Amino acid sequence: KDVAYPSTALEAPLAGFDVEGVRRDFPALHQRVNGHPLIWLDNAATTHKPQSVLDATSSYYGRDNSNIHRAAHTLAGRSTELFESGREKVRQFLGAGDAKEIVFVRGTTEAINLVAQSYGKQNIGEGDEIILSVLEHHANIVPWQLLAAQTGAKIRVIPANDRGELLLEEVPGLFNARTKIVSITQVSNALGTINPVEEIIAIAHSHGVPVLVDGAQSTPHIPINVQAMDADFFVFSGHKVFGPTGIGALYGKSHLLEAMPPWQGGGHMIRDVTFEKTVYNNAPEKFEAGTPDIAGVVGLGAAIDYLFSVGIPALAAYEHSLLEYATAALASVPGLRPIGTAHHKASVLGFVIPGIENALIAKHLDQQGIAVRAGHHCAMPALRHFGVETTVRPSLAFYNTFAEVDALVHGLHQIVKR
Ligand code: PLP
Repeated sequence: KDVAYPSTALEAPLAGFDVEGVRRDFPALHQRVNGHPLIWLDNAATTHKPQSVLDATSSYYGRDNSNIHRAAHTLAGRSTELFESGREKVRQFLGAGDAKEIVFVRGTTEAINLVAQSYGKQNIGEGDEIILSVLEHHANIVPWQLLAAQTGAKIRVIPANDRGELLLEEVPGLFNARTKIVSITQVSNALGTINPVEEIIAIAHSHGVPVLVDGAQSTPHIPINVQAMDADFFVFSGHKVFGPTGIGALYGKSHLLEAMPPWQGGGHMIRDVTFEKTVYNNAPEKFEAGTPDIAGVVGLGAAIDYLFSVGIPALAAYEHSLLEYATAALASVPGLRPIGTAHHKASVLGFVIPGIENALIAKHLDQQGIAVRAGHHCAMPALRHFGVETTVRPSLAFYNTFAEVDALVHGLHQIVKR
């Protein structure tokens, strides 16, 4: 290595975290890309899956495959049991009080659209206000804009400082009698900022306003407890927590879900249908029209089992040290400008190197087997806040190593030298 790296003393307190053992569980990490061992630093986009998730999904299709809740035969019973035990695992993962508060959806995007179109259409009208933040992923902007266009509601935005931290002191002033919902991310996918969602929820609740927390980027990195947080809605995606694509969950407080109208109609979400009148099921079934992604739920349940077996506080502590190490190491790259330097951060290490195109940097790193994303990361307002349109965004997971960070930094030094 031809680069001076900061002290690896940071590794010392992590002796207990068996990263090599963890890595053995992830088959996709053990491949070569462009002649080099794959270094996966695109975890904010999606994560790789442990063997137990692959096995659970394959065993579901190979043995238990059946539609759920609909027949008296043995496989339907097995399939239903697996599906409902997946719901119970998500309940535990989020610290929810009751599995009935967990609705299965395709992912974070679908969950937010569901809340906007069901809760939003029922409770938000012309002249009412929706509070978002400047750090939101487009999935937590556009569904509310669609609702605003349908209803005549307005969107207000919590601003941020030049480190990419929300200006908490501005939050109370955004509320008035017309404020109907707050929807904010817990961790920014573009900057990595961990937002003070508990404080924002407390302010919102003092105005009688419910809060949706977008947990797409927090669930892979920090322990979650929706009851302690007092979130009214909480949403996340399976594929970002080492589970399958196409599955995710919406948590909603029971009284909110029960009062909300269905979003989509079809089988399974009904109790009785005549051409004159249909009686809907209770939540969560009321929001799960049609055959769900049963294998996805089974895989997500296996991913949650895996995370619990590694220990979420342990992986969070390891990752935090890795993030601090990487932040210091990246600062050694000449000209590198970090984008998003919040005091409380998770996973994300966005940057630009003025004079070198972001796409070129990502391409060069890919030649060395290092996968990072370059682009707007579906968070254009957050990046424009920093006067940039795109960044290079390495993002960490608990299966990444200090040596991989060294390789990234080494690759960047080479690019700059050229
Ligand atoms: N919200 C945040 C903060 C995200 O990072 C993402 C995905 O990157 C989403 C929402 C959308 O998630 P999905 O595409 O899985 O629905």
